[in-house]
Amino acid sequence: MNEAELILEAKEDRFLLQKALVKQYHQSLVSIKANYPGSHKNNLLSTYLVIKSFIELRSLIDICFYQIISSYEGIVVLIISKSDSHLLKKMMIDYEEKEEVNRLLDIDVYSNEYEVISRRLLNIKSRSCFICDEDAKQCNRSQKHSYEELQSYFNDLVIKDIFSNKQLLYYKLSIYGLSNELNKPINYGCVGFNHNGAHQDMDYYTFIDSMTSISNDFKYFSNIELSFDHLRAFGIVMEEHMFKATKNINTHQGAIFSLLFLFAGIALSNEFNDITSNIKKLAIPLKADFTSNDIPEHLSFYLKNNIMGARGLALSGYQVIFEEILPYYDKVNELDELMNKIVSIIEDTNIIKRSNLDTYQKIKSMAFKANTKKDIRAIDEYCLSNNISCGGSADIYALSLILILLKKYQKQGEY
Ligand SMILES: [Zn+2]
Repeated sequence: MNEAELILEAKEDRFLLQKALVKQYHQSLVSIKANYPGSHKNNLLSTYLVIKSFIELRSLIDICFYQIISSYEGIVVLIISKSDSHLLKKMMIDYEEKEEVNRLLDIDVYSNEYEVISRRLLNIKSRSCFICDEDAKQCNRSQKHSYEELQSYFNDLVIKDIFSNKQLLYYKLSIYGLSNELNKPINYGCVGFNHNGAHQDMDYYTFIDSMTSISNDFKYFSNIELSFDHLRAFGIVMEEHMFKATKNINTHQGAIFSLLFLFAGIALSNEFNDITSNIKKLAIPLKADFTSNDIPEHLSFYLKNNIMGARGLALSGYQVIFEEILPYYDKVNELDELMNKIVSIIEDTNIIKRSNLDTYQKIKSMAFKANTKKDIRAIDEYCLSNNISCGGSADIYALSLILILLKKYQKQGEY
């Protein structure tokens, strides 16, 4: 099947699921997806946009049940709600029109009898095309704009929106990194939208709850003083909120730690190239964790084996991302190879925690030697059958995606 057929198949599957959900619950249904034209609908910017919108909408909608699908259509969120479908449609139209970037969303509302609630039904003007402001349906039918034109409009608008507001920058960047980490093409035993990886105690719902809490806390990041002590205090509060949101499951403790250092580095830097040295300076007090008289047992074990883990990465200013991972991604431009590169070089103590040093070395060497997609999938299968997840590498994957976006944006001269 070619990509157009795969997209069509995914859409048909979704329609069947929607119909079944409405029949099961006999309530209204809302579907949220990105209006990304043409091929490659499941991409970094569309994933970010849909998950960000869901994080915002979930506090407005009375949700009985929701489900997130990752397919050739991109990310689609299906929500079942007791609320009246006409009321829901009006709320969704308000949301679509609240901010320019929300016009890139495609939100449909169905009644509990599975009838589409259209704008016309509510006597509301039909949607205008996001390029020329004419009737969107007309432009679509006459194919007035090329897919290239529509896609670059979509990409530019999302990027512009991410960087347009300093106060919300870290809120948006955290969603960008974490939502795309959850939507990795190959999971290396981690939780994803379509399976739970090597985890029995958590699924993507736990991650979405955690991500909602983390991103909302990052709305206040611009207000804090950028010193080690203030970052640590802020991080402790963020962890408390995360554990409350996940009912005491640790989904993102490592991610919170790394994102705090990364964002502080970004906030302190005038140029992309200054980020690593600023993080290095900020992280210096972490050295005390390795030199104090009462080092925790797990840390002294790592030290004995010369493994510095997440602390070591922060102390180095995440140098390996800037010097090896980003240049590698520039060359290959493939997300599964990006993750594989990270697994092959990062000191991922999450693997050791769930196994031992030999298994850790084995996974790294499998990743190092992997040449084909089949080799990469074999590592994922190895992780699953040995109950391992490469969570530390997944955190660095999220950080790398954020830095790749930042670097690209800087090239456009606006950072
Ligand atoms: Zn148009």
